[in-house]
Order: sequence, then C-alpha cells, then structure tokens
Amino acid sequence: MRIRLALGLLVVALVLPASAGAKRKKTAPPAPVDPLALIAGEAMTTDVGWERLVHLCDRIGHRLSGSPQLDQAIAWALELMREDGLDNVRGEEVLVPTWTRGDASLSLITPRPMDLQLLALGGSIATPEGGLEADVLVVDSLEDLAGRPEPEVTGRIVVYDLPFTSYRETVPIRTRGAVAAAKKGAVASLVRSVGPHSLQTPHTGNQRYEEGTPAIPTAAITIEAAEMLRRLQERGTTPRLRLHLSPSEGDPAPSANVIGEVLGSEHPDEIVVVGCHLDSWDVGQGAQDDGAGCLAAMETVRIIKGLPVRPKRTVRAVLFTNEENGLAGGKAYAKAHGQEPHFAVLESDTGAGTALGFRLDLRTLLDDETTERDEAAWPEAMARLTPLTQALSAFDATSLTPGYAGADIGPMTRLGVPGFGLSQDMTGYWPIHHTEADTIDKIDPVVFRKNVGVFATAAWVLANLEEPIRPQ
Ligand SMILES: [Zn+2]
Repeated sequence: MRIRLALGLLVVALVLPASAGAKRKKTAPPAPVDPLALIAGEAMTTDVGWERLVHLCDRIGHRLSGSPQLDQAIAWALELMREDGLDNVRGEEVLVPTWTRGDASLSLITPRPMDLQLLALGGSIATPEGGLEADVLVVDSLEDLAGRPEPEVTGRIVVYDLPFTSYRETVPIRTRGAVAAAKKGAVASLVRSVGPHSLQTPHTGNQRYEEGTPAIPTAAITIEAAEMLRRLQERGTTPRLRLHLSPSEGDPAPSANVIGEVLGSEHPDEIVVVGCHLDSWDVGQGAQDDGAGCLAAMETVRIIKGLPVRPKRTVRAVLFTNEENGLAGGKAYAKAHGQEPHFAVLESDTGAGTALGFRLDLRTLLDDETTERDEAAWPEAMARLTPLTQALSAFDATSLTPGYAGADIGPMTRLGVPGFGLSQDMTGYWPIHHTEADTIDKIDPVVFRKNVGVFATAAWVLANLEEPIRPQ
C-alpha cells in the first residue's frame, strides 16, 4: 500500500506541469543565469570545436581559393551551422581568383650542384618551358636594390636576403620584390622566406605585379638557402641557379562567405561580426591560418545560440573567403552589408597562440581611399569598454591596445566600424606561417579552448554593451 501510494505520487509529480508542482511545494527560485560563466564553462570543456578543427585539417586540408577543398570546407561549415540551429545560415557568393601552383624546382649550378627548397609566391607567372638559368645577385632589401645600377641587375635572378624583424617590416620584399627586380631588368626574383627561423621551410604568400612593369617569376626560398647564397657572393663567387615554376591562372570562380547568426533580442538589426577566413594557402593544413580562427568564430555563435538568454544585438559569424590571395570575401561583405548598422567587427586571424586580449582599430574616413586612426576617440572608447576587459580578466586576456584588427574586416573598419583583432602570442606562429608545417599538431587544444572562450566572451559583451564604443 505504501509503495503504491509512493508510486502514485511519483506519477503525479511527473505528469503535472512544473507550475502546478510549484504551487504545492515551495521551491527555491531558479538561480540567475550568468551567461559569461556559461560561455566560459562550455568553451573550456567542450570537444565540439576541437573535433571540428581536427576534421577540417585532417579530412579537408588546405583550402586555396578556387580549389575543391575550399568548396568542400564551405559546404561543411554551412551544414554545421544549420545543425547548430543558427539563424539565417547562408553562403553569399563571391568570385575568387583561381591560381594553381603547378610544380617547381630550384637548383644551384655554381659553385656546386644542389637542389633547394622553394614555394612559388601567389600569382607568380611560370618560367619559360624548361626553366631559366641565371647568375644571382643577392641584395639586402628593396632599398639596397633601388641603389644598384641597372647593369648590375639586368639578366640576374635577384635574391632578397632580408632577416625577419616584424611581419609588417619584412613582408614588402615578398609583396613588391618581383616588381622592383623587374624594373631593373631581373629575369626572376627569390625572397628569403618571411619568418624568424627555419628548418628548411619555405613560406609562400601573396605578391603583386604592377601594370606597365613586366611580370617575372617569383618564389620564396628558405632562410638557409638565402644565407648560403649571400655567403657565396660575399666570398667572391657569383652563384648560378636554375629555376622552374609552372603555375597557372584560371578564370575567376564562384566561392562564398559563410554566414550564420544568433539574432539579437532587443536590437536584431545591430550586428556584431565574429570573423575569420576559411581559405588558406595551398600548403600544410591551414590549421593556424586560419582554421583555428574559423572554429573560434563558429564556436562563438554555437555557444551563444545554446545559452538560455539571447544577446541584445545580433552576433553574426562570417567565415570570409579569399583572404590570402585577393581579399574578395572581405570586400564583397562590406559592399553587401556596409550600410547595415554594425556595432563592432571582430576577427581571429593571428594563429593559435594564447589569446592576450584585442587590438582595437578605430578609424576615420578621410576620403574614398584613405583612413586614419581615430586617436581622439581612444580614451572615451577605453572607458566604455571596461565591461569587456573586466569579463576578459577571467581568461587573463585583458590587453586592449590600438592596432590593426584584421584583413577581412578591414573594409568594415575603414567604414568606421570599431574593429577588434584577437591579439595572441605569435612566437609559435611566424615560423610555420604559410608553410607545409601549418598543421594541427602545432595547436594546443587547451589554448585553443581558451581562445574560443575569449572570442565568445568578447562577442557576448559587445553584443550587450549599453553605449556605442565610439563617442558620437
Ligand atoms: Zn590568415
């Protein structure tokens, strides 16, 4: 009898709606929801983001614009965003260049035969069939080359041997080296890879030809090779090289920015973008550049979607296409959405080292082309962002410094939208940046989870901030 009664009560308790149950028995009021604690808890413990990153790296691999792998990654990300129940999931079409690397070889002829590692730079033209052979001129920098008389350069392969200081300072030898060498009559240009140290690892990256200057083949060589060529030249030998490159450029092809949102509860028309780029160079796995950043963006919206409360503003993940060799995704996004009210644009694209905080980019548009840092807005913006740094103290990531926020969101920051670039420890990033070594084994899963937490926390705080970041 007693057992029967107990069972009966249990059934009643299970069947009755919770409100009816509450009338019979006083229960403690539900604990207030702390979204920041929920975000941190999920970010630091879930396997979802990490397992997705492993899938992207090991099963899809590197993702150059126009490649079947990038198409596959786009389809995969769209499917996951739909699975996660995000709002307005879609791919927005963007035309991207279709440059393919082909094969390549580089051999030292004089003073001894030796094969050297190389990677063609993005957009490079091919060498003539059968390759080209020429004497080398090693120069220190673009400035050093500019000071050389033309006959010293004509017919040579120019080798830029500029040691890495910072990316910003060193990268012009890669982006402008071929044009500068061609202007002086060089037949090809090779750059010392843009990185701090090397285990015979060449770094690819983009370069630009210039209308009116002949295009010459161009590639990156290893630090080891550049230094050897310099030592030979300094000791009175003119090294001779044979270079073969066979890249080709196809017609622009359709690609897409992948977008998924969590709609805001109070200001759904105001947008906080969390961005990254889904394309990568055609080497390694694009793990740090920028697979980890894309999973931070995807996790941000997945975690926020899973909260029991909605953000006041819309949080929109944008996985941009074609950052590496054209920025077509970032430009297309600004063209299509630049007029929508954006509260802030965030990007994670500096590897997978420990997050330190954010670089804040506040810009003023001077004319159609030029912008400048809005220094005057800084002190007030910093005060208004106190809730952000307070929330990020849970991750020991409170650094907030003026700086460049990111390439894909650049077209939006130039329109005056406050830009936030996830700031990270980059010491482990530069040696593998744009190389075959950008693979997931270099990423610490614990650090990855922390970075997801930082990115998602920042998105939540900004989506709920009371006042605009920039004083009106
Ligand atoms: Zn990148």
